[in-house]
Amino acid sequence: MEQALAKGSKVVISRAALQELIDALAARRYQVMGPTVRDGAIVYDRIAGVADLPVGWTDEQEAGRYRLQRRGDDALFGFAVGPHSWKRFLHPPVETLWTAHKEGDGFAISLRDEAPPRFAFIGVRACELHAMAIQDRVFCEGDYPDPTYQSRRRGAFIVAVNCGQAGGTCFCVSMQTGPKTESGFDLALTELSHDGGQDLLVEVGSAAGAEVLGPLPRRDADDTQLAAAEAVVARTAGQMGRHLETEGIKELLQENLEHPRWDEVAERCLSCGNCTMVCPTCFCTTVEDHSDLSGASAERVRSWDSCFTMDFSYLHGGSVRHTTRSRYRQWMTHKLAHWIDQFGTSGCVGCGRCITWCPVGIDLTEEAAAIRAAPHAKKEKPGEQP
Ligand code: SF4
Ligand code: SF4
Repeated sequence: MEQALAKGSKVVISRAALQELIDALAARRYQVMGPTVRDGAIVYDRIAGVADLPVGWTDEQEAGRYRLQRRGDDALFGFAVGPHSWKRFLHPPVETLWTAHKEGDGFAISLRDEAPPRFAFIGVRACELHAMAIQDRVFCEGDYPDPTYQSRRRGAFIVAVNCGQAGGTCFCVSMQTGPKTESGFDLALTELSHDGGQDLLVEVGSAAGAEVLGPLPRRDADDTQLAAAEAVVARTAGQMGRHLETEGIKELLQENLEHPRWDEVAERCLSCGNCTMVCPTCFCTTVEDHSDLSGASAERVRSWDSCFTMDFSYLHGGSVRHTTRSRYRQWMTHKLAHWIDQFGTSGCVGCGRCITWCPVGIDLTEEAAAIRAAPHAKKEKPGEQP
């Protein structure tokens, strides 16, 4: 007899039923977002159904390199993560905070008051669930909660997917953030291949997930299917393209702020900020005021910023971090060390995006390993001050 669905239930559905799931979410007025192929990459965008997913595509990733390739099958989620992360929907890259219009001798200010979009995210990876949990600490649990993030996050329905293939720059196993999804989802999928095609094992993660899945055609998962799903993540865990030794990494970096490796990496780093833009946990922003030429209206806009820009650390009289060395060091030590002091976790989930999308292929796992290999190394000459 078919089991009643509850948190922890595991059932099997067909691809046709996945389409029904997407339709059911759209019928509940969710904006359904998922991976899709565009401009030579797999990005996150609005999708209408299974046909919009990157069917039969995979990605080849290395430091400074990303290429799409055809797979030998028609897997739906047979790739790693691309340049987008879900943060672009929960913490938008550009957002108008308020607008002002001239009225008589003064201005009338309108605060943003639109209803927050309700997103359904399809295909969220384990590392990305951890990245959301990290941003939750920043935007929901800190002293200054962010209303945009909070409302979007609260309304989101999450369909996760267990990774069936690791990318060349992935290291979620090192960060203990994947490849298996453990919590933080409404439903979690695992693609199962069999002789006649593909099915999906679905784990229920919440009451909302059970409610949406309930009416869809499904069958209880048998032992063979459960074992096959475990084998998928075990195989992926064995494919990690990178490794980061995390034992004592906070102390290692904090005790090596004058290590000569920071000078070496600064010679390669372009200070472009790509690594911060693609990172699913980076959250820094700047605020600008704009006015029209007639002086009749103005607006305040918040947009993503990067600790790699000179202006980011500008205080009265100049920038505090005026060298590339100091900016790269700030970014990497914040991610892997100071974040632990601030928020109780690492700021890195091992997704590998900053390695893949760095135009010169700088790899934080390699940088950390170089410092670990020669801790407390000294410069030959007195160093520059940050
Ligand atoms: S620092 Fe790099 S590997 Fe870590 S979460 Fe950010 S983009 Fe991913
Ligand atoms: S590490 Fe790479 S991506 Fe980051 S600022 Fe430097 S050159 Fe750009």
